Amino acid sequence: MLAGRPGPAFVAFPDGAPGGRRAQPATMNTLLLTSVSEIQAYTRDVRANGRSLALVPTMGALHEGHLSLVRRAKQQCDTVMVSIFVNPAQFGPGEDFDRYPRNLEKDTQLLRSLNVDSIFAPSPKEIFPPGFETHVVPGKLAEPFEGASRAGHFQGVATVVLKLFNLAQPDLAYFGQKDFQQVQIIRRLVEDLSLAVRLVICPIVREPEGLALSSRNTHLCPEARHAALVLHRCLLRGETLVHAGEVDAKTLLKEMRKVVETEPLAKLDYLAIVNPEHLAPVERVTAGNIALVAVRVGTVRLIDNLIFGPPGASPELLLQLAFTSQPVLDLGARIPGLETEALRRRIESCRDCAAIPSVLIPPRAFLAKYLKRDYPDLNRLRVVVIGRDAPINSDHYFYQHPEKPASFVTELYKLLGVGSFQEFKEAFAVTDALRCHVLSDHVPEKALAYCARHLREELKNFPNLQSIVVLGQDAYLQFQRYVLGRRPGEIKPFEELLKPQGWALEEVRLPHLKAGPLRIIYCYHPLTGYKHSPSLASLFQSLSH
Ligand code: AMP
Repeated sequence: MLAGRPGPAFVAFPDGAPGGRRAQPATMNTLLLTSVSEIQAYTRDVRANGRSLALVPTMGALHEGHLSLVRRAKQQCDTVMVSIFVNPAQFGPGEDFDRYPRNLEKDTQLLRSLNVDSIFAPSPKEIFPPGFETHVVPGKLAEPFEGASRAGHFQGVATVVLKLFNLAQPDLAYFGQKDFQQVQIIRRLVEDLSLAVRLVICPIVREPEGLALSSRNTHLCPEARHAALVLHRCLLRGETLVHAGEVDAKTLLKEMRKVVETEPLAKLDYLAIVNPEHLAPVERVTAGNIALVAVRVGTVRLIDNLIFGPPGASPELLLQLAFTSQPVLDLGARIPGLETEALRRRIESCRDCAAIPSVLIPPRAFLAKYLKRDYPDLNRLRVVVIGRDAPINSDHYFYQHPEKPASFVTELYKLLGVGSFQEFKEAFAVTDALRCHVLSDHVPEKALAYCARHLREELKNFPNLQSIVVLGQDAYLQFQRYVLGRRPGEIKPFEELLKPQGWALEEVRLPHLKAGPLRIIYCYHPLTGYKHSPSLASLFQSLSH
């Protein structure tokens, strides 16, 4: 689903008193919001200022796992809100609601140190006022595992998450892989109820010995903490066996269970290997399948999981595999026994670079057709804009229908300070030759080298080229690495580079071009990200293009 603004709420929930209290500053820069009316006023304000909003829902007692979500949100959105709410509706009778760790003061300090913009920390009464009786009932995904062990848990989760989404109306919401079943239920919630929020899922953060961070770990005495390491050991046993070629789920589960049995303090609740989408147990393990485990250590119940994939795969790639977005694998990285055939075929079907399977317009089409049509005098062109990837649908190609600019085009015009295609082509051309946007280590080097070579050739068309505008982080990384030939350690993080003014400039000389030094302007992608660069119009004026 694409980001945008949510439509009207589809479920009527009781509202806070209109015109209620004003938000209190939690710190110099971090607002503490506690009421429905405060958060509504706040999010209205954020939207009115055209800023993107990230929501990180938590139950507090924050640890590095939570903070990893916050850091990711800070990178991707203008404004970050963290909600802290120990949700009574997701605890069953006899569960640990009363003794769940709470420490708002310490949490506030931590979030302040990360420059979070606001904290939403309502009381249970604020969220569930007297008379509250509307609930979200998730479907089959909520039945097994956590749902079976904790009756009503996911109804409580889904209800509060929907309420938080309605209150904050975030562009992006951040959740951890740690609660994998929860993620899939929220994903369904978003899709089924057409919520205009995009979910970002972040990998599990662990202690050095492997224990997944959890607020409940504070209840573990040293002995229990040691026993709790058995969860990760059990998952790693499965992974080792899969990498050695064992794909029979029964055999794997038997071996993994044996590991749990070695720990007398641990009592297994469930252990399963499932298809990530439907959470149905599998017979043969394929890439992207996931092992889920829950164990009781004394009075503390802990969960953990592991996504199976090729050896050495990054946590992000594993998440991609599980969420079936287009994963890209080097053929050499296939694991014996794992069924990556479909993937391999997709890669083979890519004509140009073996990295992106959906390229419909080779860059040559741009050169051959549109340069001739739109640029009678190539000497006049001063700036080339490098886009990120080829459009999947050729109708959206930049030059295809200049009379009907797509949203990317409108936003690009705004960024460059031109009003029409006519004005645009006086000085600018756009190319998506450097289109490989896959950051995985598994993308074949030759694919990226191909893109860079193609771009260099393309630039030769413009004898008086003065500047190149590079849109977005992915294009920035490719440009630095494959056009400028910089090594990963020499490339400044994109965010850091752009921080002072929302764009950055450097002068380089490209040996193969006759033109003098080129100014490279890096900025946010005008459409695909959630941060925006200011208009570059005055920059171009000062550079006297
Ligand atoms: P909680 O406060 O337990 O409700 O967690 C809030 C969010 O943080 C959820 O989306 C969790 O999945 C995520 N989270 C919890 N523990 C971790 C961890 N160890 N690593 C990454 N994310 C986590």
